[in-house]
Amino acid sequence: MWLWLARSWLISGRAETKRLDRRRPVASNWMHCLAAHHLISASMVSLEELTNLQARAEADLLAAVTVGAVDVVSAAALGARSPIAEARRGLRDVDPEERRELGRAISEVADAIESAVRARRGVLVAEERTVHLATDRVDMTLPGRRPPRGAVHLVMQVWEEVVDIFTSIGYTVASGPEVETAYYNFDALNTPPTHPSRLESDTLYVEYGDHPEGVLLRTQTSPVQARWMEAHDPPVYIVSPGRVYRRDAVDATHTPVFHQMEGLAVDENITFADLKGTLSYFIEQFFGPGAVQRFLPNFFPFTEPSAEMHTSCHVCGGAGCRTCGATGWIELLGCGVVDPFVLETAGYDPSQVSGFAFGVGIDRLTMIRYDVPELRYFFDTDMRVLEQYQ
Ligand SMILES: [Zn+2]
Repeated sequence: MWLWLARSWLISGRAETKRLDRRRPVASNWMHCLAAHHLISASMVSLEELTNLQARAEADLLAAVTVGAVDVVSAAALGARSPIAEARRGLRDVDPEERRELGRAISEVADAIESAVRARRGVLVAEERTVHLATDRVDMTLPGRRPPRGAVHLVMQVWEEVVDIFTSIGYTVASGPEVETAYYNFDALNTPPTHPSRLESDTLYVEYGDHPEGVLLRTQTSPVQARWMEAHDPPVYIVSPGRVYRRDAVDATHTPVFHQMEGLAVDENITFADLKGTLSYFIEQFFGPGAVQRFLPNFFPFTEPSAEMHTSCHVCGGAGCRTCGATGWIELLGCGVVDPFVLETAGYDPSQVSGFAFGVGIDRLTMIRYDVPELRYFFDTDMRVLEQYQ
């Protein structure tokens, strides 16, 4: 047997010094070999089979081209159900004298296969790593990919800026429902029952609850003022920004939903002069210094007197340009001194307090400031437009 092992290793070139050192004198072992051979044959595995097993395993390992294939060969040759494991189990039945020899022979073959597995695996792992490095190369000098950054919508930026201007001079932000009763949207604001703005052609009514006067999507944020006055005693200094709805077809300057901010001041001795001073301050803060305002008479049901405020064009300074339609003026907002009826309806005494109110379109302010030609750009999701205002 040792002859066989020594020859096998020498021929295969895999002989290791350690193993050769363990060889016993050939002559003294010869009879053991014969005896062992006889016993092995009787117990499931023969010496030839061991020889063949090693040769076959080594050939299979050379044929294996992946680490996975090496694992398969290794399991077949050395696993729990391999002939070697069988042989080891068969040692129980071998005469104790021979068991040691036979066990060693089996171990030598198993060691030889194990080391062949290790060697082949090492070669293949190195090859696979080389291929992996070549095909899955990461260039650490390339710049990273930036995720797209979100931003506050332009209209909301202006919304916040306008609110900031007023809160910085002592105004409080008030809010209310977008689905509103006709009472707060019209009646409490002195809108006559016959006013055309109440018609279904102008206002979006909804079927909700059993309010006899009707329920609608608010057409202005003024109902917030009526609600606030009901709940608070004067003085009142509030702004109410929010979404409002009108039955408008979409065109360059109309959309069925838009954003508005209304302001209300009620206190002792409030006059139109306070209104002009407050709005002039707002315009200067928003458009910058140097703008000139003018007030043209107008009519609103809830203010008396009422006015439309124009400001000199911030683009051309009044000379006339595309933004102002060559007039030099920009129509900005409606305003006026609060009608005493509105104060009475809210439970205030018009002989004690007076007030002013104004309403401005946030979308309109945005269009003017940023020279956006069409209102609907704010409601589209066209990133080419929105990305310009991050
Ligand atoms: Zn202009």
